[in-house]
Amino acid sequence: MKILHAAQFLDERRRFALAHTCERCVYHDHDRDRCAHGYPDATHREAVYERPEDASAGMFCKEFELA
Ligand code: SF4
Repeated sequence: MKILHAAQFLDERRRFALAHTCERCVYHDHDRDRCAHGYPDATHREAVYERPEDASAGMFCKEFELA
């Protein structure tokens, strides 16, 4: 799902310590550093949110499950 209000989301993500990226997902294969389900995950990764100029490219994965 697209994140429409990136600036607001980045603020809330920081304030509430939201967990929603692949690195926090039970389906992330840490040994192979990729999604265990084989999904393309570039827009779901932490790195997207570490660059505010790219945050609007970030997306929520509907398959996310907190690890
Ligand atoms: S299910 Fe979605 S959030 Fe979880 S590792 Fe795969 S792509 Fe990332």
